[in-house]
Parts: sequence; C-alpha cells; structure tokens
Amino acid sequence: MTAENRNPPQAQEVDTLEAQILDAIDRWVEKEVRPIARQYDQADEYPRELMEQMKELGLFGATISSEYGGLGLGATTYAKIVARICEVWMAPSGIFNSHLIMANAVERAGTEEQKAHWLPRFASGELRGGIGLTEPNAGSDLQRIRTVAKRDGEHYVINGTKTWITNGIEGNCLAVLVKTDPETDPPHRGMSLFLCEKGPGFSVGKKLKKLGYRAIDSAELIFEDYRVPAENLIGGVEGHGLQQALGGLELGRINVAARGAGMARGALKLALEYAKERETFGKPIARHQAVQIMLADMSTRAEAAGLLVREAAERFDSGRRCDLEAGQAKLFASEAALKNSTDAMRIFGGYSYSTEYEIERFYRDAPLMCIGEGTNEIQRLIIARQLVERSGG
Ligand SMILES: Cc1cc2nc3c(=O)[nH]c(=O)nc-3n(C[C@H](O)[C@H](O)[C@H](O)COP(=O)(O)OP(=O)(O)OC[C@H]3O[C@@H](n4cnc5c(N)ncnc54)[C@H](O)[C@@H]3O)c2cc1C
Repeated sequence: MTAENRNPPQAQEVDTLEAQILDAIDRWVEKEVRPIARQYDQADEYPRELMEQMKELGLFGATISSEYGGLGLGATTYAKIVARICEVWMAPSGIFNSHLIMANAVERAGTEEQKAHWLPRFASGELRGGIGLTEPNAGSDLQRIRTVAKRDGEHYVINGTKTWITNGIEGNCLAVLVKTDPETDPPHRGMSLFLCEKGPGFSVGKKLKKLGYRAIDSAELIFEDYRVPAENLIGGVEGHGLQQALGGLELGRINVAARGAGMARGALKLALEYAKERETFGKPIARHQAVQIMLADMSTRAEAAGLLVREAAERFDSGRRCDLEAGQAKLFASEAALKNSTDAMRIFGGYSYSTEYEIERFYRDAPLMCIGEGTNEIQRLIIARQLVERSGG
C-alpha cells in the first residue's frame, strides 16, 4: 500500500470493521493460539493448523488491497492485530508478517500485470513466503550480498545462499534480493528483487536452530542454477531491488514495533497475575515495594510502546511521512519487550526458569525484536539522521 493508492474509508466504517476483526482475532487467540503455544514452542514444531486458520481469517491478505482479494487494512488495525497475537505468543505472527512484506513490495513496486498475477494468490495464502535479503556474510550491509542473477533469454539464472529466512521451509514463494550487475558502483544500482517460487535449483540448505521464535521456520536457502522467468523481476526493470526491499520498511517497522508492544504488555500481564498470587513474608509480592516499582515501570513502558506504535501507524494511514516515528516506535517497543520480559522473570523468581511457565518464552523471543527490520544500533543511526534532516541539517 502506498500513500498514493491508500483511499481511507469513512471513520465509522473503519471502527466497525476494526472492532469485528479484533474480536475475531481475540477469540481465535484464546481458543487456538494460547492453548498450544508452549507445546509447539518447546517442540519447535510448525503450527500448521494455525497457518490454515490464518488463511480463513484472511491474515495472509491483511494489508493487501481489496481489489486484489485482500482485507485492505490500514497500518493501525494491522498493528493492533499483530500486538494482540504477540501478547500471547509472538512466533505465529511471523507466518503472515514476513509474507506481507513480500506482498507489500509487489503492491508498491510491481507492474500492473504482476499485481494482478501475484497479489490474489498471496492474499488467499495459496502462495506463502517472505523476503530473502540476508546472506551469511551480509545482514545490515546488504550491498555486500553475493547472490547473483544472470540473464539467459527469457529467464535469469540465480546462484547464491540466503540465511535466516523466515518461512523459508514452509513457504513456497520468496522475494529474493540479488545482484543483476555485481560490478556496478554504488552496488545498490546493480541490485534487483525477484519473486521466486520453489522449484528445481531452489532448495533448503538447513533449518536453523534458535534461542526463541521457535516453531516458525528460519532457514538457509540455496540457489543453484535456479531459473526464474524474467517476468518475475519486480517492477520489470533491473537496479531497483534494494529500494524495493527497503521501501516497505516503514510498515515493516510498525509491524515489529507492534510485536514489541504486544510482548511488553503480555509480559506485564503474566507478572501482575503472578505477583498477586505469590505470597512471601505474609503478603502477596505485589504488595512489596520493590515489586511494585517493577510493575509500575513495566506498565508505563508497555503503554508508551503502544502509543508510539499507534502514532506511527496513524501517520502511515493518513499518508503523512512516518519514517522517524516508525523507527522510534520500533526502537522503543522492542527494548520495552526485552526489558519487560527480564523484569517479569525477576518477579517470577525461580519459577521463571521453569519451562512449565510461559514467561521463559517471552524472555527467549523478545531479543529478536531488537534485531529484525534493522538492528536497534542501526535504527538509532537512522533516527539521528532523520532528526538532522527534518531540522534542516
Ligand atoms: C529469527 C530471525 C529471523 C530473520 N528473518 C529474516 C528474514 O525473513 N529475511 C531476511 O532477509 N533476514 C532475516 N533475518 C536476518 C536479520 O535481518 C539480520 O540478522 C539483521 O539484519 C542483522 O544482520 P546480521 O545478523 O548480519 O548482523 P550484522 O549486520 O553483522 O551486525 C552485527 C552487529 O554490528 C552492528 N552494526 C552493523 N553495522 C553497524 C553500523 N554501521 N553502526 C553501528 N553498528 C553496526 C549491528 O547492530 C549488530 O549489533 C532474521 C534473523 C533472525 C535472527
């Protein structure tokens, strides 16, 4: 969705639609997600039934325009959906979040034929996947990638390795960043983005074992003389791949920020509930001042994270510039998730170390929010650059 083609419906319509969608999400989370979270996380098993239910809920088309079969939701509603899921279990949101980054690249930068061909199949979940940027030698510094696509008649031939790719095993399609001209300087002018469906030459190297964000597949992917039709080059012109991949980052950052805000709230809820029940020295630990201070700080962080996400999302939906706001929301909310998970661990005492309690999962899942969609170190550099630029520097 671009600022140009976003056509906001009337406020009342949005409120009603949003309330219906959020109600459906809440019921789904309580009935289907919460009961299986611990078991699937610990077994590192892909929650296939949740993926099928996501299709029915329309989540694979959440931000895809309705003319292409999606729900056409704005960032504000989308962020609320993501936060509500992550309040309980962060990992399943990756199944549709990464997929929608791929869809967003096509909707923003694709040709009309590409949008008509790909977006309805993405929206229905028939094609599912994500975005393949990172390589073993390059994550933040994407201009150093080594995967190459060489033109051969009506095809390009891709060779290279991608790593850490979400939905790399369970998905069947990926937007892949490559170099179509490895000699060009600056390198980004020789980079392109292709839609690659699984097939001969496109294989899974290995499933990566992780600290958290389990159950969702992260994979190393290998391209060996993989032939992709030239018509799968997003936008139809070489040399725009890096901008196309990074152009969706505002929505991507709002999404990670929403995950962080949801997790910060989820960790607080678990800690508060426990603190009211657990007694020491003749009273619930929630009545000890040291614990109260932690709860107060946790709730303030969770609220602030939620407000920053809302502000960034509302600006995005209104078509106003929101790069700075999305970056600030991502930075603050991800750190809030990490801090609240750690504080919740302290409140749970020894039980925080038990895999029979939910809180240890938050502690393992939260750090990813500080790495994904640009590490928080890089995020700070971008925020500072934008501050200087907006103040006329
Ligand atoms: C679970 C998981 C899922 C992921 N999913 C995907 C996916 O679906 N698709 C995909 O393409 N990638 C994915 N990634 C990769 C992720 O985007 C990268 O890990 C991230 O961009 C950081 O890159 P890197 O790991 O190569 O770290 P590096 O770029 O090597 O950075 C290492 C450290 O150096 C710091 N640093 C680097 N440059 C600077 C600088 N200029 N100034 C200050 N500090 C700097 C970083 O902040 C970091 O602390 C995933 C990663 C994980 C862990």
